[in-house]
Amino acid sequence: MSILTPAEARVDLDAVRHNVALLAARAPGAEFMAVVKADAYGHGLLPCARACLEAGATRLGTAYLREALALRAAGITAPVLAWIIPPGEPLEEAIRQGVELSAGSRELVDEIAAAARSAGSTVRLHLKIDTGMSRGGATLATWGGLVDRALAVQAEGLVEIVGVWSHFACADIPGHPSIDSQLAAFEHAIKHPGLSGAVRHIANSAATLTLPQAKYDMVRCGIAVYGLSPVPELGDFGLRPAMTLTARLALVKRVPAGSGVSYGHLYHTAGETSLGVVPLGYADGIMRSATNRVQVLAGGRRRTIAGRVCMDQFVLDLGDDLLTSGDEVVLFGPGDENEPTCQEWADSLGTITYEIVTGIGSRVPRVHLNQRPGNAQQGDRQ
Ligand SMILES: *Cc1c(COP(=O)(O)O)cnc(C)c1O
Repeated sequence: MSILTPAEARVDLDAVRHNVALLAARAPGAEFMAVVKADAYGHGLLPCARACLEAGATRLGTAYLREALALRAAGITAPVLAWIIPPGEPLEEAIRQGVELSAGSRELVDEIAAAARSAGSTVRLHLKIDTGMSRGGATLATWGGLVDRALAVQAEGLVEIVGVWSHFACADIPGHPSIDSQLAAFEHAIKHPGLSGAVRHIANSAATLTLPQAKYDMVRCGIAVYGLSPVPELGDFGLRPAMTLTARLALVKRVPAGSGVSYGHLYHTAGETSLGVVPLGYADGIMRSATNRVQVLAGGRRRTIAGRVCMDQFVLDLGDDLLTSGDEVVLFGPGDENEPTCQEWADSLGTITYEIVTGIGSRVPRVHLNQRPGNAQQGDRQ
């Protein structure tokens, strides 16, 4: 007997592999870092990381050390870079596990060097320059001092400067003037003679697909790996959305005309109808702003969510269609079967696909399709 899950996010690893190959072909000669932060953008860290490596990614990128350490704990040995390092992080553990670290301040270089000394090994370090995003990284004014500090601890054998990098603020806005000025600042910063052997990297998904001059020695792709367009105005670039979010109707019942539906009665039935209850809510990442707005596919038809999205559930007006509890509802997917896409959800909610897929909660199991033998290994959570 198989147990039906009330809701699940199916992740097609063949789509992930297709996307990695497509993106790598757009950056010939460059290394490919698959960005797997935030549980691989909600798609499941370990199966996605392995699928990316199977498809030719040579490195993985995470925001936090604990994400990089989760890769190591599962036996993944590929180079991993973690780039957000607030005070108090387990630096020594990361260094022992061979996680590559980023630093954009002299203070952090010193902390990392001290941790390398206690760990008794050399850290592979990427120096980050703020070329105009004004978020992480050293400003141009402090860059020289940062590089000098890093070269000094490199001379002591504590660090090896393996990368020099930056991040675009507006790569998803084609023609934005900041793109050229960030590239010019990057060119200037990487000219420092002490950095000649370092891997230079600045391109995210949008830059990989639209700015060939920004590929340098490596590209760092996140959203496009999962098949979602980083620049929706320019189309899908041939990417395949990997995730299909589904649920099974928990209940179907007839109600009379004029029934007020869900909290606040923001929806009223026009005539006698069938209502279907879908067991997903804002605790699962179905934003409350999807109320009376976003469409899903049920019984082969698009239907708009009827009334307020609740914490654990929302309601559909099924009309006279013969649906029963247990029938599948597709919230979004690649769009092949007339189901809405995550991009459509993002457009109707006034957000970006990143926020939708990373917001899907931990109650929703990720089910990985087209897993290769050896991919599912001990230590995987799903
Ligand atoms: C998240 C992130 C990326 C990936 O960005 P996408 O737009 O998802 O491709 C690359 N670099 C850094 C520093 C990031 O934080």
